Amino acid sequence: MRTTEIKEVISRKRHYRDWCNEAILPGDRYIGWTQFDDRPSCNHLHPECMEAFEESDEKEFDNLNPRGCNCDWDDLCARCEERRAANAPEGPHP
Ligand SMILES: [Zn+2]
Ligand SMILES: [Zn+2]
Repeated sequence: MRTTEIKEVISRKRHYRDWCNEAILPGDRYIGWTQFDDRPSCNHLHPECMEAFEESDEKEFDNLNPRGCNCDWDDLCARCEERRAANAPEGPHP
């Protein structure tokens, strides 16, 4: 399989993600490349999703994962738990 160089770019438009369920917005950094199978297809991944993709042995983007993870929506995933905690609003809940 032939691919273009993998490079990190700043998005100028909205991209639908290939790995997770979150879109890439204008101004976000993403990792992009094009691969040529029968026809060219472009891939756009958040940098943290690229790490998760490289760690996993999946070769295709056939099912969505949580952003930055490759656990396939495992409720008990420690990395997703950490991410949820990091994204939670400051302070105690009312
Ligand atoms: Zn992503
Ligand atoms: Zn996870």
